[in-house]
Amino acid sequence: MKVDVAQSAGFCWGVRRAVEIAHKTAEKFGTEVFTDGPLIHNRAMMQKLEESGVKVCKDPATLPENSVLIIRAHGIPPERQRFLESLPIQLVDATCLDVRRIHNVISKYAEKGYFCIILGDKSHAEVIGLMGYAIAGGFVVSNVAEVADVDNQGKPVCLVAQSTQAQALFDEVAAAVKEKFGETAIVENTICRATQSRQGELKSLAESADAFVIVGSPESANTQRLALLAKALLPTYVVDSAEQLDLAELGQYKHIAISAGASSPDFAIKAVEEKIRTI
Ligand code: SF4
Repeated sequence: MKVDVAQSAGFCWGVRRAVEIAHKTAEKFGTEVFTDGPLIHNRAMMQKLEESGVKVCKDPATLPENSVLIIRAHGIPPERQRFLESLPIQLVDATCLDVRRIHNVISKYAEKGYFCIILGDKSHAEVIGLMGYAIAGGFVVSNVAEVADVDNQGKPVCLVAQSTQAQALFDEVAAAVKEKFGETAIVENTICRATQSRQGELKSLAESADAFVIVGSPESANTQRLALLAKALLPTYVVDSAEQLDLAELGQYKHIAISAGASSPDFAIKAVEEKIRTI
């Protein structure tokens, strides 16, 4: 059995930075610190963070005075930022700078009166944050067909993407937006570089491997999207941990390639690799 592990597997730089910020904040304050919702979408890592004193807070309004609250890597809408700033707590910002860049792109066009179309998952924390910056109006689409439902209210339009969207889907949506709104529609490819290299590496691994194992939690949208891309190329198995591997099933392959979502920790990927190597 040959086993390859994608070089891009594991934490992207934005997730690594958010986790480091959380650890350093807990160390600095020497007490429990909180995150505004899950810092990242990975169960094993969230458990480790909790063990080191970083806890998820569901309602920051209930936190005692002077508590420390970390803003998650996915970012938040400006309205929530103002609400958090109005509380008697200390804020630490772990928003990924690539997400911050998308906020800035949306703001730039929204201030000029552009209607913003976002390719993304409507209910995902990052997209909820992005919509908050679309002050001249916005609409979230998750596929090409939904472009037909966009009502731009007679405004010029600008298309952006949630940072972890698939490049091929973005290109298709961009073509549909141009067709509906004309060549003056602005298209800003805001898929982050970490996502692009992960998706690109998947294609090159598929040239030699027989099957993929993708490591990541079910609640991680970027893991699920990576798995969809993988499934279009080769038989694909998605696992959250080594315990979920079906070695009898994987034994039918000669060459397995492992990749992982942006929030999958190295220890989980390593455990999956080691278990597959026992076949
Ligand atoms: S996937 Fe991209 S945008 Fe999201 S946290 Fe990682 S680097 Fe930042």
